[in-house]
Parts: sequence; structure tokens; C-alpha cells
Amino acid sequence: EKAQIGVTGLAVMGRNLARNFARHGHTVAVHNRSYNRTKELVEEFGHEGTFLPSESAEDFVASLERPRRVIIMVKAGGPTDAVIDEFAPLLEEGDMLIDAGNAHYLDTRRREAALRERGLHFVGTGVSGGEEGALHGPSIMPGGSVESYQALGPLLEDISAKVDGEPCCVHVGPDGAGHFVKMVHNGIEYADMQLIAEAYDLLRQVGGHSPSEIADVFRGWNEGRLGSYLIEITAEVLKQTDAATGKPFVDIVVDQAEQKGTGRWTVQAALDLGVPVSGIAESVFARALSGGADVRKAAADAGLPGPSATAGTHEGDLQADVEQALFASKIVAYAQGFQQIQAASKEYGWSIDPGAMAKIWRAGCIIRAKFLDFIKQAYDKSPELPTLLVDQYFLDAVSGAQDAWRRVVVTAARHGIPAPGFASALAYYDGLRAERLPAALIQGQRDFFGAHTYQRVDKKGAFHTLWAAENRPEVDA
Ligand code: NDP
Repeated sequence: EKAQIGVTGLAVMGRNLARNFARHGHTVAVHNRSYNRTKELVEEFGHEGTFLPSESAEDFVASLERPRRVIIMVKAGGPTDAVIDEFAPLLEEGDMLIDAGNAHYLDTRRREAALRERGLHFVGTGVSGGEEGALHGPSIMPGGSVESYQALGPLLEDISAKVDGEPCCVHVGPDGAGHFVKMVHNGIEYADMQLIAEAYDLLRQVGGHSPSEIADVFRGWNEGRLGSYLIEITAEVLKQTDAATGKPFVDIVVDQAEQKGTGRWTVQAALDLGVPVSGIAESVFARALSGGADVRKAAADAGLPGPSATAGTHEGDLQADVEQALFASKIVAYAQGFQQIQAASKEYGWSIDPGAMAKIWRAGCIIRAKFLDFIKQAYDKSPELPTLLVDQYFLDAVSGAQDAWRRVVVTAARHGIPAPGFASALAYYDGLRAERLPAALIQGQRDFFGAHTYQRVDKKGAFHTLWAAENRPEVDA
């Protein structure tokens, strides 16, 4: 008997993916650099399905039916290259190497091009949902050739999360498209988490509510339009009491947020593409600020002045207003993330269907939410939508939220509570709707010091003002 699929790299993620395939009735070839993991998997979970364990790469490859489908689930970066170098010579034309780790999309593009030359398919695929998702059904974002998806897609769809029976897995696009979309998914996740944290902070510091009371507020919100996995787990975390001290769990955790890097990658890629993903950027920077212990200590020692953030006033219903601010800011963050996907799709010729991305994020992944249905509908209606904010549902939501949103940003500023996510989302929104932006002045400054030229509102062409000359005449540039 040969295996339909193989997994090499059997740490938490690889092991759970292998089990997921086996539980769905597929025969799974399993391999790991050190054999003990392979052995453990078969000993502990062998009863869940049919595993074909191999100690050597050669035996592993030989245990697979053709075209071979080999999922690599090892540490991203150098280890992935090492594994590719080990397996590529053992494979034959038409076989597939599938990297399901968190690779950078540019690495995926490089690997795909190199393996294509050797007649192999390389599929860089995003997998979201952590260990639990890998076992019970992740959201899967495969890139690579159309041909590879024909041979691989049905297997991936089988183990993916489902919404009303529809798989949370779709062919995203060629080469790096899958890993790019997974990266932006993570960037959006950063923004979502930061916005939720700001909402909590305002309810705690301005509203004077306890973490447990705020947990109840989040539980309530989870029943409404904000309903999502992240809101749900936020309530769980806020309800948690530290067993050792009896204090709220959030009060015994060091307030320095860490990051593994996909948020940062999203922002770096956005800078290169020229797409303003301010919501994601603010969330990456907010984590960096929180982690800057030395700078924070210096600021505390210097006693940087400002209002002390104790329970205070808010002109309006704080809880209802924060819900509106959270929803509107979230819309902005998603709009920016989707715009980045569209920009990259154009840049690299990926032809990504943005609505399909919203569809496969509705279950299995960290940002799963009811809200994604509306994003899917918006792009299904008009795939070329320049921004989600002009879709009627989102336009109505944001226009309904904006008074509250402004009040919340004012309250945060007045009480000295940092709310960079809410504030920058609002600034982005106001920037988009502005009839005239001060960018005109920036063009003037650029022309003054660098003769960079400018365009006029009243006629075509490029112009330059001779700033140093008498009367500063304008010339065609
Ligand atoms: P790790 O990232 O901890 O990697 C451990 C695995 O990599 C082990 O199987 C290890 O083998 C193998 N490995 C490391 N270096 C090499 C090498 N040079 N050659 C061969 N094998 C090597 O495992 P995880 O399961 O946590 O994650 C796997 C991938 O999935 C990563 O890319 C990670 O970023 C991603 N990931 C994704 C998540 C998601 O939600 N999508 C969540 C967590 C991770 P050995 O046992 O011999 O040491």
C-alpha cells in the first residue's frame, strides 16, 4: 500500500496535520529528521488511521503514490531549504513539495522558480489555526500552479475547516500568493488584537470596570456584529483569575507583547507596495513600544507628564461608543489588508479573488468572524472594489459609527490613554474622505528643495517654480 500524502517534520503542526489526514481516511507517510518523533506519532496515534512511518528520506519517498505529495512542516527559513535540498533529488517530474510552514512569500517565489526548473511543483501554502486548527480543520491558503492544485486541492479541502459544508481552502494563485495571503491574514490578526486591547483599556481605565465585568461586555459583543474567535477568547482571558494570587490574570502578566514576525513582514511588504496599512503598522509598533522596557523605564523615571488615566468622564455611553469605535476601526484594518492583497496580486500577476480569501477565513483561522461574510459579499458583487469602505454595508457601518468613534478617540486623548489603533484608523478614514489633503503643500516643499515638480489642478503637465529667481516664475518641467 502506498500513501496519498506524506508529511515530513512532525513537531506539533506536522503531527496534527498528519493525524488530520489519517482521520479523514487517507494513508499518510510520515517522516522526521530525528526518528523518535515519527515513532511517537505512530505509537500514540497509530489507531487513528493508517500511517506509513519511515526512518530515511528515501524510504519515505518510496512509500508515496505518484505524483508524490510531500508536505514539509519544519522550522521556516534555513531548515526549509535544507529539507527541500534533501528531498528534491529524490523526487521525479510532476511530484509536489508543499511548504506549509510560515515562509516569507519571497522565499516561496524563489523556491518555486528553482523547483519548477527541475520539473517539480512547489506549493507554498498558508495554514492558519495553530495546533488545534491543524488537527481539527485549519484554513488553508495554497499557492503554486493550477496543475498542482488539481492533484493536491481535494486532499487539502478534505482536511480544512468547513462553513456550511464548504471548505476553507482555495487555490490562491501562483508561486508566493498563498504565503502572501497568509502573511496578510496574520497582519490583520495583529490589528484586530490591538484594537480589542484598546477597547479593553478604555473600558477599564475610563469606565472603571473590572476585567471580569469587561469579559461580560465582550461576551455580549460576541453575540453581535463583532462576533469572532478573537472576541470570544478575549472574554475567556479576561475572566481568568490567577490561582496563586487570586488577582485577575491580565494583572499578573508582564505587559510586553511579543511577536514572531509575520506582522512585521506584512508592514514591510506594504511599504514596498506603497499601500497604507496603518492599522497593521500601528499594531506592530504598539507591540514594539510595549516591549521597549528600557525606553519605558526611562520615561517613567523622567515622569513624562500627562493626565493620570483613572476612571473618568466620557461624553456618551462609553460601552456603546467603544463598540462602534472597535467595529469601525476593524473595518478600516480589514479594508487596508485587502487592499494590500489586491496590490500584490496586481504587482505579481496572481489574479487573487479577494472574496474567496474572505470566504476561506470564515472558519479554522484566528481571524474567523461573521463579519467576513460581508467582505465576501462585497467582493463577489464587485471584485475590483478599490476599498471595502465604499461597499454599502461597510459605508453604512462606518457612517453610523463615526460620531461614537470620534468621541472615543477624544476621550482617549483627553485621559492620556494610548489608542493608536482607533486614532490612526480614524485618521485614515478622514484622509480618504478629505476633499483636499495637505499633500499639495508637501508637493510645494518638494519642488522648492528638490525641483521635484508638481501638477496643477487646472491644466495638464508637470511644472516647476523657479523658487530662487525673482518673482518665482513657473516653468513647464
Ligand atoms: P517548529 O517550527 O518548532 O520546527 C520543528 C520541526 O522542524 C521538527 O520536526 C524539527 O525536526 C524540524 N527541523 C528543524 N530544523 C531542521 C532541519 N535543519 N532539517 C530538518 N528538519 C528540521 O515546528 P512547529 O510544528 O511549531 O511549526 C512548523 C511550521 O509551522 C513552522 O514553519 C511554523 O512557523 C509554522 N507554524 C504555523 C502555525 C500556524 O498556526 N500555522 C503555528 C505554529 C507553527 P527535529 O524533530 O529533528 O528537531
